[in-house]
Amino acid sequence: MPGNLLVNGIVLSSMPIGEYDKRIVLLTKEAGKVAAFVRGARKPNSPYVGISNAFIYGEFELYRGRSSYTVNKANAIEYFTSVTSDIDNMMMGSFFLEVANYYAQENADEKMRLLLLYRALQVIGKDGRDLELIRYIYELKTMIINGEYPNLFECKNCGTGDELVMLSGNLEGVLCNQCKSGDKSGIMLSKSTLYALQYVAGSDIKKLFSFELKPDIREEFIDVVKRLEVKYMNHEFNSVEFLKM
Ligand SMILES: [Zn+2]
Repeated sequence: MPGNLLVNGIVLSSMPIGEYDKRIVLLTKEAGKVAAFVRGARKPNSPYVGISNAFIYGEFELYRGRSSYTVNKANAIEYFTSVTSDIDNMMMGSFFLEVANYYAQENADEKMRLLLLYRALQVIGKDGRDLELIRYIYELKTMIINGEYPNLFECKNCGTGDELVMLSGNLEGVLCNQCKSGDKSGIMLSKSTLYALQYVAGSDIKKLFSFELKPDIREEFIDVVKRLEVKYMNHEFNSVEFLKM
């Protein structure tokens, strides 16, 4: 049904179309992922020049045509310039956009994913932040939002929440000290690493990026997320090759 739709969201991608237009993909609070045309966005005096690029967070009024949306009005609220002005931050940010774009769905509730992306873009722009750690926190929380991840809080075998010491070899859950001998391919987890994994799984997105880890725990945490990524994300993102890690 034709009509207008007002959405708040981040531009995930922006592609030139024809001579002057663009097609943008938005991750929105109101309607999940939405693709829209921006007519005349590439004309130098267009009012859309500043709002039709990736990374911009803003308010967009979309006209719903028969088969597509067109941007009627737009108001940029945040540009994430500390991300786009630094090459390493920008590469990491591009990876985050690509991940969000891959998993987000149209007409779905993507508020958590939007909030995760928004926070991640805010923190990668801050001085002295551990980009690699932020990346793996972002990936793990993405798996949680997708609903595909191991239960990190109870032993997969007996259900206890105490003395969890191992990630099962099939990566489907954790095992307690009593049950660990039944899994020959399991991966031993230190208490701190398990706690970090549980923290990411359970914590509010606003507090998600607030921790740092000691070097050995950091290494173990990243190793576990890399293994989970292979099993639960199982997709090759193009922007990964530009990351220095
Ligand atoms: Zn057990």
